[in-house]
Parts: sequence; C-alpha cells; structure tokens
Amino acid sequence: MEPFTLYRRQPQGRRSNTRHIKMGPYLLLQTLGEGEFGKVKLGIHTETGQEFAIKLIRKETVGYSASRLNKVEREIHALRTLKHPYIVKLFNVIETEKYIAIILEYASGGELFEYILAHRCLKEKDARRLFAQLISSVQYMHRRKIVHRDLKLENLLLDRNRNIVVTDFGFANNKQDDLMATSCGSPCYAAPELVVNEGQYAGSAVDIWSCGVILYAMLCGYLPFDDDPCNPDGNNINQLYRYILSTPPSFPKHVSKDAQDLLRQILVADPQKRYTLDDIQHHPWLKPHS
Ligand code: ATP
Repeated sequence: MEPFTLYRRQPQGRRSNTRHIKMGPYLLLQTLGEGEFGKVKLGIHTETGQEFAIKLIRKETVGYSASRLNKVEREIHALRTLKHPYIVKLFNVIETEKYIAIILEYASGGELFEYILAHRCLKEKDARRLFAQLISSVQYMHRRKIVHRDLKLENLLLDRNRNIVVTDFGFANNKQDDLMATSCGSPCYAAPELVVNEGQYAGSAVDIWSCGVILYAMLCGYLPFDDDPCNPDGNNINQLYRYILSTPPSFPKHVSKDAQDLLRQILVADPQKRYTLDDIQHHPWLKPHS
C-alpha cells in the first residue's frame, strides 16, 4: 500500500434502494450517506420536483443525551443563522413522532474527499478556486460569530457546478469573545492548541488551521501530519500532536513555492503567529481570487 494517500476514517456513505416513504411534502429516495444520528436521503418535493438532501435524525438515537441533543440544536441554529453561497442551505426542519428531518440543499457533486481521491490530487488552479470559496465561507461564519470547529474534507461537499458546500455544523459554536474551552473535531485536522494547551483557545484560529490541512490535502493528495511511521493512522493523539509540533510540513516537488509559503504560514503551531483570514486572502497565491 502506498504510504501517502488519503483514506477514509469513517464508514463510507452507502447508496441503496429503499421503498419510498414521505416526510411532509418530500418523497424520500436513496440514501446519500450516513451520519452519527441516522441517514441522509435524497428527497424530492412532490409538488415542485426540487431535490433536497434530507438528514433524518432518529429521536431515539439522540435519546435523552444532552450532548447529542446539543449537537443537533447547534447544527440547526448555525444553519438558520448562515446564508452564504458556499455553506449548505437549510430549507426546513420537520418533526415527527420518530424523526427530526433537516431539509438541506442537495450537494449533487458528491464529496470533495472522493473528488480528490479520483484525481489523486488537485491542480493548483482547481485547489485555489475551492480554497478561495472555503476561506470566503469561513470568513463569513466568523463575521456572524460562528466557528465551525470540525472543518475537514469529509465535511466539504460539491454542488453540481463543483463549488464548495460546507456542511456538518454539529460542533459549530457561537464565539462571543472567540475564546473557547471544549476540544472537538477530528485529530488530523485539529489545531495543536486544542490538545496541547489545556484551557481556552481562540475558536477562529482553529478553523484556520483546519483550512490549512484541507489545502495541503487538496494539493498533495494526503494529510500533512499523517506520515509518522510510528503512528501511521494518527490514532495515538498525544503522539500525533508531538509529531505536529516537531515536524514542519514538507511538500512534494509539484507544489509551487507560493502555495508552500502560504501553507507554512497557516500550519503554524502558535495560534498567535498563524495567518489570519485577511492574511490568507492577501497572499500572492490567492491573488487571482482576491
Ligand atoms: P456527523 O458528524 O453529524 O455524523 P457526518 O458528516 O458523518 O456528520 P452527515 O452530515 O449526516 O454525517 O452526512 C453523512 C453523509 O451524507 C455525508 O458524508 C454525505 O455523503 C451525505 N450528505 C450529507 N449532507 C448532504 C447534502 N447536503 N447533499 C448531499 N449529500 C449529503
């Protein structure tokens, strides 16, 4: 097996044929994927014929767990607050006896993860366009005082024009003074200060770190801090963070000097010295999209 390729850490979404049932005015079709609380189905509005992604949350899965309920509420709250071309649109929330159904924009271009895998890595021109869209959406959320806290390839989908659709706001939080205490997100995308410093961290800086990991994966086809031979899956989190702190990112030859420079300014362990979103937008590599 090649050491440096992206591989999925979570079960892959399944597509299957099911009998068609209705949820409010929507006809439920095939399963697009599966999340922590249930399936995401393709749905069609029976009157307009418009397609939607319908996230079905089984109430019994959420149960009486405050943290799970909190996650669902956070997601709905964030999506109600955010309206941006590159953030998944919330159209409706339907509650039945058994389900909470979140009616979302259908991202028909699939997952960015699969798109990168299919191309091995992206051309800089394509990566630049997608990264500019991601940064624009993150800047918008931060201005609306929301930090995502779980930005990763698996949470970036594509629409039919191959534009970014940021999803999964289950860890999103309102930043009042930007200081947060709960550690969350996926280890390979999480900023070192989330694990290394116990206590508070600046929410916006952790999203910026994750954007850096995403850009690296788009350009290289593998994750920047996943190649520790002693910890190949990044499963030992303390070891992973020691590795991140002691290993400056290295790049394959095809990555341009400008792109390398931008990534070296984003993947900085000290959040105070890490590039801000404004810095990123003014970097020469993003100039064509500034
Ligand atoms: P969680 O951490 O909440 O379990 P998740 O990313 O595992 O999040 P979902 O957000 O429920 O789960 O999504 C599961 C899968 O369903 C996604 O990986 C994707 O393949 C598909 N999916 C989700 N939202 C959409 C959408 N708006 N359009 C198309 N497919 C979607």
